[in-house]
Amino acid sequence: MLAAPLKAIVHSVTRLSPNFIRVEFSGPELSVVGSTSPLYDQRIKLIFPRTNHPLPELPADCNWYEHWAGLPKETRGVMRTYSIRSLTKAADATFLTVDFVLHTAPGLTGPASTWASNATPGDELLVVAPRLDSESMGGIEFNYGTASNVILAGDETAAPAIARILEDLADSELQGTALVEVPESDDVLKIDGPASITVKWLPRNGRPHGELLKEALAIHHMEEDAAATDQLLWETPEYSSTGEKITPGRARGEDYYWIAGESGVVTSIRRSLVKEKGLDRSQVAFMGYWKHGVSMKG
Ligand SMILES: Cc1cc2nc3c(=O)[nH]c(=O)nc-3n(C[C@H](O)[C@H](O)[C@H](O)COP(=O)(O)OP(=O)(O)OC[C@H]3O[C@@H](n4cnc5c(N)ncnc54)[C@H](O)[C@@H]3O)c2cc1C
Repeated sequence: MLAAPLKAIVHSVTRLSPNFIRVEFSGPELSVVGSTSPLYDQRIKLIFPRTNHPLPELPADCNWYEHWAGLPKETRGVMRTYSIRSLTKAADATFLTVDFVLHTAPGLTGPASTWASNATPGDELLVVAPRLDSESMGGIEFNYGTASNVILAGDETAAPAIARILEDLADSELQGTALVEVPESDDVLKIDGPASITVKWLPRNGRPHGELLKEALAIHHMEEDAAATDQLLWETPEYSSTGEKITPGRARGEDYYWIAGESGVVTSIRRSLVKEKGLDRSQVAFMGYWKHGVSMKG
């Protein structure tokens, strides 16, 4: 069960590039947030207030989710999933940083992106994040097991998780490649990862979403996933949203693939890597982070 949401107060807002905005949260309730192990792709839940409504009042115990889900839509706010870009502790404060992708075009935007594009210091939201005072909340999928080579591939929504993974591996000798597709050349950001992992930024500059990632992965099958489902693909060595039987375990092959981004793109990469190239399920994590034309539930 997820620990209760905490109030996070915007401490600073930095426009990193045309399509990324960095929001640093702090506040007294964040003092319990932390982890004794690397964060890698640790996901968190953010609850945004609806326009002209305050944040919902939630019980500070493990029943908060049922309470939240039972509130009227107008007052409960909107829940979305994000990654921790960084988590730092100062003597008297905790700073939790999230890099938001701005997708603000009319008809293609959503409450989270809209909130981030207007964020100013002092704004508040609720966050469900790993805590030092409770059991692990789960939510880390990156697990290269005994692999010696990692291939990280994702679009802009996965860029913060890829950056965190690489920075957490900074002292490692693990070999590999990180492929990060972003909307524009100016969205290329600095990552302080290990020298043994090559980072290749792939600015689309108008090319279709996912095309450059597939090219870089030598996937020539360019069909998009046409599945009529709002569900995001989620398939890791431990879990399959497609209902396949899986044997839980850590990555066993030489290569470990971690792939995240738009669900249709990830699905077609999955099809190619698993079905056509015969990659073993224990070597891959495929994660749909969002889906074209679908507003996330919550
Ligand atoms: C584990 C995990 C970690 C994630 N980490 C991050 C992160 O660190 N940073 C981040 O920015 N996102 C991240 N995401 C993705 C984010 O949760 C989604 O993009 C989410 O849909 C944004 O919510 P919204 O309210 O802005 O849009 P929604 O209400 O969910 O969607 C509204 C419309 O916007 C479109 N849309 C949603 N996202 C995008 C996008 N990126 N580009 C173009 N159109 C889009 C949808 O297709 C829909 O048409 C993560 C998702 C997961 C599952």
